[in-house]
Parts: sequence; C-alpha cells; structure tokens
Amino acid sequence: MPRRFLVTGGAGFVGSHLVAALLARGDDVVVFDNLRTGHRGAVLPGAGFVQADLADAGAIDAMLAGGRWDAVFHFASLSLVGDSMREPMHYLAENSGNGLRLIDACIRHGVTRFVLSSTAALFGHPERIPIDEAARIDPGSPYGESKWMLERALLWADRIHGLRSAVLRYFNAAGADPDGRLGEDHRPETHLIPLVIDAALGRRPEIAVFGTDYDTPDGTCIRDYIHVTDLADAHLLALDRLDGGSVTYNLGSSHGHSVLEVIRAVERVTGRPVPVRLAGRRPGDPAALVAASARIARETGWTPRFQELDAIVRTALRWREAHPHGYAT
Ligand code: UDP
Repeated sequence: MPRRFLVTGGAGFVGSHLVAALLARGDDVVVFDNLRTGHRGAVLPGAGFVQADLADAGAIDAMLAGGRWDAVFHFASLSLVGDSMREPMHYLAENSGNGLRLIDACIRHGVTRFVLSSTAALFGHPERIPIDEAARIDPGSPYGESKWMLERALLWADRIHGLRSAVLRYFNAAGADPDGRLGEDHRPETHLIPLVIDAALGRRPEIAVFGTDYDTPDGTCIRDYIHVTDLADAHLLALDRLDGGSVTYNLGSSHGHSVLEVIRAVERVTGRPVPVRLAGRRPGDPAALVAASARIARETGWTPRFQELDAIVRTALRWREAHPHGYAT
C-alpha cells in the first residue's frame, strides 16, 4: 500500500519540491495550502490539493480525520526575517499558533510522525562557523523564535504523546527542480540568487549588495546555499530515521559563499555582467551562516547532489528564464 502524507505549505518553494520527491517514489500526497504565498501551479498533478488555512481548526480536523496519515510535513509559514522584525507579534502568533494547532490536531488524530521546516535563523549571530546542532540557540528575529517555539513544542509532544518528529533547519534553500517543473516564485522576491539572475537577464536594473563592511574576506555576507532538491531528499531520509526516535538536523552544503561570490557565479553561468550597487547593511543579517551537516550525513547517508554553486545557479536560471512571470506563465 502506498504511504500517505499531508504537506502543509506544499504549494511553496521547498514544500513543492518535497511533494515532487514523494510523488516520484509513488507515495500519496495531499497538499494543504492557503495560497497566500504558494502557487496552485506549484502543486504537481498527482497530488491532492485542499485550499485552506491553518488558522481554521475545523479544516485541519476534517483533513486529519479523513484517513490514515503516515506523516505530516509542516512547511506552511511566514518566512521573511525582515517582516518579522516589523511585525513581531503577527509572526509569533501566526507561525507558532498555526504550528501548535496542527501539532495538537496530529496528536488527537493519532498521527505518529511529524516533519518540521525549521531554520538557521535560530542561531542568530553564531559564535562559531560552521554551525552544528549543538550550537547555542539565540534566534536573531521573531521569525527564528517562532520556529524555535515549535521545536520546543515538538519535544513535549514526543515526551508526553509519543509524536516523533524530524526537525530540519534549512540554511539558504536555492536552485530549482532539475526537471524544470518547479522553481522559486516569491512576491515580492527578496532572495539573492533569483534577484541576481534577474539583474543578469536585464529584468531589473541592478542588484544591491547589502553591506560591504562585514568581518568576512570580501566584506559581504556569507551564506550556505543548499539545493532545494537536496533538501527534499533530506526530508525522506530523516523521515525513515524516525523509527529510532526523533531527530534534529542542520541542513546545508557546509560551504559558504559571499554575496559577491554569488554574483560572480551568476555572471559565469549566464555569461552576462551583473550591474551591482553597493548598499548598506540589511537589519538583522548575521555576517556568516554555514551549516555543519555531518550529523545527517552520518546518520542517514545524505549527500547533497548539487555540490557546486554554479550547478545550483544553473537550475535556478533555467526555471527563471522559462518562467519570466513565475507560476503565472
Ligand atoms: N542580499 C543582498 N541583496 C539582495 C538580497 C540579499 O545583498 O537584494 C544578501 C543578504 O544580505 C544576505 C544574502 O544576500 O546576506 C542572502 O539573502 P537572502 O535574502 O537570499 O536569504 P537569507 O540569508 O536572508 O535567508
């Protein structure tokens, strides 16, 4: 019998790629998404789709009561650090409130496996790079805090109710489905790689580099860009690991790239120059975030397939060239 999964936020960037991975191995999938930031076009044919909001407890209950679920993947979330600094209570209430409602419903409906999208934003301004799972947690934003609250809730859900969870802390999700069916479509787009690609393609006048005076070799921020398909694969491996108990993994490529290195990679891959404007720092940005992903590699054998930044950029470029207006086209 195929396994059956519920994916909240399955119409979003990382969620849609996880749905693709589940469908590819023959699982049954239902996406639960309010389409506020997700896209109907990002839900591949073959997946079921329910347009509903996690604020609607009745909708969650109806969904979970509607059959046996092997696991619930929870992606649906507000995810912009900057917005969370402007509207902290909104972020905490929505992300943590919705997540708690979902966890509670899973417990009541006998779901035994839960996978949470968490974030490197838990680590604020880290003391050491690379960052492993034992690093000090000190969220640098209400966004990070909202995910930390859910990580803590899952700890108690496991201890008291036996709900096993995989907590996956993403560093910078990037790239696009290598088959060209799915990509990154945020509105407005705020992420570095799609914006630099647009600047290379002449779809925007320039890329603003946020800060050139960080304590890094070239003065710009360093991030760990991890391909979204590799992230999706990590979910499948982490899920299988739950038979042995709950797990927490930091997910990155373990390689850091500065903003200027990303710009050079896009120039190499597109063969076009990128107009750059040096700008001030963006509030809340730490100088460097790089994952130590040795734990998941050791425990599950996860090895990212996209090891080179250029290869990640190539997949993002392919989708963006083919979809100048995102999922609208
Ligand atoms: N960044 C930038 N210009 C932009 C967008 C982002 O210089 O127009 C920088 C940002 O300051 C950060 C890095 O690129 O250091 C990655 O930012 P992004 O928003 O993609 O992801 P985040 O690290 O905030 O999750």
